[in-house]
Amino acid sequence: LGHHIGDLLLVEVGRRISAVVREQDTVARLGGDEFVAVLPGTGAQEATHIARRLLERISQPYQLEQHELTITPSIGMALYPEDGADYQTLYRCADTAMYRAKQEGRNGYSFFTAEMQANSIRTLQLDNALRRALEREQLSLHYQPQVSLTTGNIVGVEALLRWNHPEWGPVSPAEFVPVAESSGQIIQIGEWVLRTACQQLKAWRDAGLPDMVMAVNLSAVQFRLPRLPEMVMDLLEEAQLPPECLELELTESAAMHDPQGAIATMNRLHDRGILMSVDDFGTGYSSLSYLKRFRVYKLKIDMSFVRDMCADPEDASIVNAIINLAQSLGLKTIAEGVETDAQMAMLREQGCNEIQGYHVGRPMAAAQFEAWVRAHVAHPT
Ligand code: C2E
Ligand code: MG
Ligand code: MG
Repeated sequence: LGHHIGDLLLVEVGRRISAVVREQDTVARLGGDEFVAVLPGTGAQEATHIARRLLERISQPYQLEQHELTITPSIGMALYPEDGADYQTLYRCADTAMYRAKQEGRNGYSFFTAEMQANSIRTLQLDNALRRALEREQLSLHYQPQVSLTTGNIVGVEALLRWNHPEWGPVSPAEFVPVAESSGQIIQIGEWVLRTACQQLKAWRDAGLPDMVMAVNLSAVQFRLPRLPEMVMDLLEEAQLPPECLELELTESAAMHDPQGAIATMNRLHDRGILMSVDDFGTGYSSLSYLKRFRVYKLKIDMSFVRDMCADPEDASIVNAIINLAQSLGLKTIAEGVETDAQMAMLREQGCNEIQGYHVGRPMAAAQFEAWVRAHVAHPT
């Protein structure tokens, strides 16, 4: 609608934010569509309250000249001194939390610290219900194909956790995994995921499906378990699988929390032949000097860059830069969240190795996935 309407919208958003906060608070626009509010002496509870009011106010329709517009804000919150002692640190934390809020479906708010998040009532309910989810068999895995851009063949599969609650219906892992992480339940759940994924892969191999690497998401909490490498080896042995058919997906933050420790753990996993990749690459705060010491073989380009790469030249450049970085470090790349033919074509042209996303196949239940693979082998992408 042009700069003029954009400016009017920003001014009005600024007004609405200022109307919600107190006299002594500071509201600033950093650039683009990002605002920062600094609220001295505000605790988690009060911040939650303010965030709710901000969401409510900002989501009301805007009448700008002849246009009626609505927008969906996402709010990330960081607390002093828990999350940081200076502006830069707090800002980074709030930014990460905002990203999480966006991932959880936009029009929401999120705290940076898992502990803070655990304070909200919904979180407590989830936590209680999760304690019974495993034994009541409410958890399952879905499987999403990963295909090579050079051959079109299926090369891997990512296991994605699903929780179907009898009353609430499906609960997104983006919502319950952080809860399970803060309570420690992710250790038990994560072990179940690894075991189930390994058993499933073994069954598929026995059923004559082509060789695939099974990628499993690993939580930062699991990654810090000293017995992780042994546990993984035991599960592989139980399923009679060689280590190189398992890939552990780590996020940048899981590794950057304690880079030295992460390097040691990665070395132990790598020595045993297990593959590792970096999930959501580009959204965390990787230090490139660490990246070259991480024993990963693949970077997963975050879907936020892929989503707009055909329309936004900056996103296209970021994707290109990640592919070049990976190539020069001898790493493979896979793009996540590929939804269109145009994205696939552009990724192929840029030299990306593999893709995953709705364009190829959605996450599917095991039986459906098996049928998908059989059909795909007959007619590759
Ligand atoms: P992730 O590992 O980055 O997984 C990719 C997410 O993108 C999945 O969401 C997948 O369903 C979704 N997706 C795949 N293709 C497309 C596409 O083309 N377009 C769009 N819009 N989305 C696509 P899901 O299954 O809701 O999982 C969300 C996150 O939860 C995962 O992000 C991962 O971080 C976490 N998660 C899932 N399963 C596990 C698990 O077993 N353990 C742990 N620790 N985390 C898990
Ligand atoms: Mg993943
Ligand atoms: Mg991802």
